[in-house]
Formats: sequence, C-alpha cells, structure tokens
Amino acid sequence: MIHYSVCPHDCPSTCALEVETANGGTITRVRGARENTYTSGVICSKVARYHERLYHPERLTQPLRRRGDKGNGTFEPIGWDDALDEVAEALLRAEQVHGAEAVWPYFYAGTMGFVMRDGINRLRHAKGYSGQYLTICTTLSFNGFMAGTGRLAGSDPREMARSDLVVIWGSNAASTQINVITHVLKARRDRGAKIVVIDTYRNGTAKQADLFVCVRPGTDGALACGVMHILFRDGHADRDYLAEYTDCPDALEAHLQSKTPAWASAITGVPVETIEELARMIGTTARTFLRLGYGFTRQRNGAFNMHAALSVAAVTGAWRHEGGGAFHNNGDIYHWDRTMIEGLDVRDRNVRILDQSRIGAVLTGDASDLGDGPPITALFIQNTNPMSVAPDLNRVHAGFARKDLFVCVHEQFMTETAEVADIVLPATMFLEHDDLYQGGGHQHALLGPKIVEPPEGCRNNHEVVCALARRVGAEHPGFAMSERELIDRTLRDSGWGDLETLARERWIDCQPPFREAHYLDGFAHADGKYRFSPDWSALKPHGFGPVDTVLPSLPDYWPSIEEANAEMPYRLVTAPSRHYLNSTFNETPTSIRREQCPSAMMHPEDAHELGVTDGAMIRLGNPRGELKISTQVFDGVQRGVVIVESIWPNSAFEDGKGINVLTGADRVAPVGGAAFHDNRIWIRPV
Ligand code: SF4
Repeated sequence: MIHYSVCPHDCPSTCALEVETANGGTITRVRGARENTYTSGVICSKVARYHERLYHPERLTQPLRRRGDKGNGTFEPIGWDDALDEVAEALLRAEQVHGAEAVWPYFYAGTMGFVMRDGINRLRHAKGYSGQYLTICTTLSFNGFMAGTGRLAGSDPREMARSDLVVIWGSNAASTQINVITHVLKARRDRGAKIVVIDTYRNGTAKQADLFVCVRPGTDGALACGVMHILFRDGHADRDYLAEYTDCPDALEAHLQSKTPAWASAITGVPVETIEELARMIGTTARTFLRLGYGFTRQRNGAFNMHAALSVAAVTGAWRHEGGGAFHNNGDIYHWDRTMIEGLDVRDRNVRILDQSRIGAVLTGDASDLGDGPPITALFIQNTNPMSVAPDLNRVHAGFARKDLFVCVHEQFMTETAEVADIVLPATMFLEHDDLYQGGGHQHALLGPKIVEPPEGCRNNHEVVCALARRVGAEHPGFAMSERELIDRTLRDSGWGDLETLARERWIDCQPPFREAHYLDGFAHADGKYRFSPDWSALKPHGFGPVDTVLPSLPDYWPSIEEANAEMPYRLVTAPSRHYLNSTFNETPTSIRREQCPSAMMHPEDAHELGVTDGAMIRLGNPRGELKISTQVFDGVQRGVVIVESIWPNSAFEDGKGINVLTGADRVAPVGGAAFHDNRIWIRPV
C-alpha cells in the first residue's frame, strides 16, 4: 500500500515522500513523491533506506533512569509514569529554588514538524521557563538575505529548471539537498544551461559544474565584489533596473572601482581568469539564478557575505527574468499562525532568552549569557544532541558534567546527550505520528500523517509535553488538543484551509505569484528598494552579537573571520557529509559504511610539508581543543584549508569528543550565530 508523507529531517528539501507498507504495517520502501513538483520523485539515499533507522535494533523503546555517576552510561528501565513524575519533580524543584527561569527546555530541528518540534515552546511559555534564541543554523544567512530584499523569499526554486545559468554558491546540494540538483540538471538537459559551483572544496556538487570556483573560506564577499566590478566595467550592469529597484547604485559603482579582479583574487585565492569567466557568464546570461546556500551561515562574516553575493542579482537585474534572480529560503511566504502549537498567547516577554549556540557558556554559568539571572539547573531536551553538535564542545561537556544539573532527554537513540541524562524517554519517529511541515527550500506546506504504530514504549513529543504540563501545572488549551486538532487549528488560523483538505491534497503549493517572488513590484523595504547599503544595526534581536561591531556600509571583503596565523596556519571547514545529517543517521550501518572514517582533507603540498601521507594520523587543535584524525590527501581544496566532513559520533574519535571541540561559540555579528566553518587550527603529525 502507498502512503504519502514528508521527510522530517533538518534539510531545506523537506521532500514529499511515497511510503510503501506491507504485511499489515511494515515500511518496505521510501521514495520521493513523483507528483510533487519540487521533489519530483527524487530523495537522498539516506532517507530512501529509512527502514534502517526505523527498525534499528538500538532504538530506545523504554524510559530509563540513570544509575550511578552521571555520564557513566548505566541506566535502568522504569515505567512511563514514574519517569514523567521524576522529570516533573525535578523541574518543579528547580523552579522552587531559583524560579522558573532555572528550567531550560532545549530543542532544535531533529524533526521539522511544527507539532513535534515547536510544541516544547508551549510548555516553556505556559511556565515562564527560559527562552531559546535559535542561532545554531540560519541566523547569519537569513539576516544577510533579508538585509538586501527585506523578506526571506525569492524566485521559485523550480525556476532553476528554466534557467540558463545556475550559480550554486555555498551549498553542497548533491549531499545536502538533492532536489536542487534535480532541477539544475533538468535545465542543462532541456536548455543547455550552464552550472557554476562556488565552494571551499571540490565536493559532489562541484563535480557537476561547468565552472567550479574554489574560494578560500569566508572570502565570498570579495569574490562578489570582484564580479560586480567587472559587471559595471563591462557594461553588464542593468542601469534601468538599478535606478528603479535599488537604493544607491552610484555609490556602489564608485565603491567597486577599487575592487578589481586582482584585488579579489588576492583575497579569495581564485585566479583572475576564473573571476573574469564567472562575471562574463553572469553578465551575458539574462536568466541567471543564484542558489545561495547554508555555507554562508557558518562564517563569522556570513551575513555580510550572503548580502554581497545576493547583490550580484540586483546589479544585473536578473530578478526581471523567469529562471533568474536569487533564492535562499522561503520562510516568509507561509504566514503561519502557530499560537496554539507554541503557546505564543501566554508568552511573557520579560522572561530571559538564552542563546542556543552558547549552551556551553550557559551551563558553565557565564553571567552575561545568563542575563545575570539564575543558573540553569534543569534541562528538558527534545530533537537535538548538543553533546555532539553544539560548538565549543569541551565547554558543553563541562556544563553537562555539573552534578547539580538535572537533564531529561526525549530521544530515538542513546545519543551522546542521552548518555549524560538523568532520565531518558523513548521517542517516536516521523512515520509514527502526525505532523505538519513547510519546505524552506521550496514552497509547499505538507502533511506527514501517522502511517505505522510506534514500537511499544515510544511516545511522541506532543504526548510527553502534555504529560509534563499536567504534572507541573502548565495551562494552555493546546495541551488538551490532539496532534491532528493542532494541525487543523494551525491551518485554519493561518489561512491555509483545514486538515481534511490537506489530507486529501497531501500538500499545498504556497508559491507567491511571479511578480511578487521576483520583487517586480518592489522589494520588501518601506521604499521598495533593494538595499546595497543595509542598516545592519537595525537587525534584531539586539544583545546576541558582539558589542560595538560596525559592519561596512557596502558589499566588501569584511575580514572578521578567524584568519590563519603563524601558530594556527590552517583554516578548518566542518562541512556536512553525504550520509549523515548533523548527528542523525550516524547510527545507521549503511551510512557508517559509506562514510568510512573521520578524515581531514588537505592539499597535497600541505600534506607534503607536514610530512604526512594518505591515511596517516594527525592531531588538529586550537585553544578550544584538539583531536586525532586520519589524513586524506585531496587536491580539490586550496592550500591552507582543511575539510572535515561531519558529524561523526564522539565515539569515532580516540579522545571521545568530535569535531566540535574545534569550533567556536563566540558571538557573531550582527545578531548572533555559530560559525562552524570558520576555525583556525594547527596540525601536528602523530
Ligand atoms: S534530501 Fe533532505 S528532505 Fe529530502 S529525503 Fe533527504 S534529508 Fe530528507
């Protein structure tokens, strides 16, 4: 039997799925939904073999209580009622001693379904527990895009198939959002379109490119300026478009006079001829589609670089054309009202908000991170694994080791974070509960209905949140609603029909009309102009970026990165691997087999200089930490750049901690974020 569902994982593709069941409810096959115009029948291999996760012998299926010392990995089974009572008692105890802000419900995008991901916020708001500012992924890139357009939306990503030139910039889409490749290859096949890939290493996406531009990490702003210099110089700037749609084209042109290809080359490491060729392709192709990826969001200057890259489309006026313009994420097209799911109507705006990426600093008692408020003494965690995925991992581990910290983790597997919990609760997977999704990388709202029964003993996030709410005295109408009632209510409140209709239709195509998506009636700023000179200081929320940092007023190279120096001459990028998705899937046998082992990809001349060969063990380090890893000699990267595809489990490393011991959690401009690809390191042969 065929059912329709949605991939719930932290991936902008949010693929519409066809799920086959047999034998009274066993999942036998998962594939892309052919009738969905974005998914087009294609999904990644890790989800196509989902039965490995769903029927994994190590799935958690019963509540567990820690025995002995914290983190020793020894647990005993307990009943659900006892487990929930203990968690509730711990949360109430923390509240009695230090106030409700001592409790921090902590979550992220292990599932992207609104009910299962965001329902934890209803508990937070109903109780006045500490808030969570979501900085770990998209803060920099979203803000950089919106600084230019005023809105998080762009050209219909399906238009890539009707483009003549697609520039995939900062995204290894072949590994991380396969549908981009589907539409781009269609353009090549049907129209002879060219593909440009701009990235820090020759990854799977770059191998598809007609032109691969290998850029030094964090220098995209310089590349964009070099390209725009040539566009003005060679008469490819659309002056009518600039006059009508942009804020200060004359100032930009004057500013770019000194941003020559030679200047850009010296900063980016990209040969002058390549920059010239890139600019020529963009300048002579009306239908140029800039597909801007999440690589931008992982550099300290990422918001600024995203805006600089986006500005290229405004210089050429590519927005005018079908198959042209730019796209990053469609978050602003959906106008969701999630009041009932998140309890937004009972939120107290005086309650402090803590930065998700700075969980290490928060748990180790940094007064400024705590807003000079009480310590966090109780964590309730769903959908994330900070003991592996959070930056500045040594500090995160130190925080979780605190004896006075109570931790409950509701999870599908015994993750690194579950291992240090006091209580572990077994969670359902997406095919075992109902939820509602939106495609960040496309334009569909989709229903993921419950298709199979969960293993006996597993409960979904909504059930657990409601059960805890009853025990800790949290009140909100959403706690009395079923998952399907919440979905129906959210659809109705948001103007997207109702559950019955969505269940029948499977998804809603929410794509705005062409003129709106291409900003042909004006950009989303009050004066309708694209901003070459954004007011960076107006971005909110204030207080999460570095103090007194002023961003340049026009696109430029802004060297606010962790630049290499004499002691740490290499720049480390912790790029996403093909078969893992953050720390999800790093428990499935085929993914582990295909990824083989953690390795540091480095240029042959760097390897030679260090005296190491392929497979040799080396140590990577910086003041935040160090680890041992295998060398992979690789000529698809610039000298001085090291790529470690991630995220391997902590247990894959000899010292028991993974790649994030090297990444930083310092505050990033303009309003916070986590610069996972922006690390200077030393390397020593072992
Ligand atoms: S490409 Fe992304 S959304 Fe699609 S199946 Fe794979 S992980 Fe899920």
